[in-house]
Amino acid sequence: MDKERKLLIAGNWKMNKTVAEAVSLVEGLVRELSNVKEVDILVCPPFTALYAVSQKILDTQIRLGAQTMNENNYGAYTGEINAGMLKEFSVRYVILGHSERRQYYKEDDALIAKKALAAHAAALKPIICVGETLAQREAGQAEAVIGKQVEGSLAGLSADQMEETVIAYEPVWAIGTGKTATSAQAQEIHQFIRKTLAKMFGEAVAKKVRILYGGSVKPANARELMSQPDVDGGLVGGAALEVRSFSDIVKNSI
Ligand code: PEP
Repeated sequence: MDKERKLLIAGNWKMNKTVAEAVSLVEGLVRELSNVKEVDILVCPPFTALYAVSQKILDTQIRLGAQTMNENNYGAYTGEINAGMLKEFSVRYVILGHSERRQYYKEDDALIAKKALAAHAAALKPIICVGETLAQREAGQAEAVIGKQVEGSLAGLSADQMEETVIAYEPVWAIGTGKTATSAQAQEIHQFIRKTLAKMFGEAVAKKVRILYGGSVKPANARELMSQPDVDGGLVGGAALEVRSFSDIVKNSI
């Protein structure tokens, strides 16, 4: 697939996989995907498996990401992990503001913006998640909600930092539900996000930013979604937990 931006396919393993299971999964991915150069591939295991996975992807094309991080550098934040700690495990990307974090841990745009700045300060690339609920879509508010999330979560980033930031559009109603946005629905919102980025950071920056689609991406729908002009990859949850399905998503996206 000839695309303006190199595709990025990222697997969000969420709170799944022991160390042994994570190693087995990543070994399978290395076997299946080690020759793939056309697409950037990222795995985001739970914190506890980062080190073991990092050791298995040395000298491969697969990159490592984390699922969240704290916005502070050090201190009394029991249970939290900072950007510098992630860097110790060769982490390159960090997912921020996933809808599960917005919903269960009350993360808001202002907090996500602080985390994004802290990630950049440590040379980690944030993957910032935005997306509307079903009720918001049905009320015709999808663009208003997403526009506010984009503006709020990226507040304070420089143009250079924005170029090193990834956006993930994940309609909340499509996450883990088996319901996928149609490729036309995805393209419409991705185009809207890119226009919003152009207003905030200028056209040239907006053209460089990768905007991923997330929400029940599977081998069967990957090609159609990834062929949309403003869809620059996928953030994959459930289908990232098995070698076959994740590898097929990657291969079907090429
Ligand atoms: C996600 O949570 O980022 C996600 C897209 O999940 P799923 O692929 O399972 O819908």
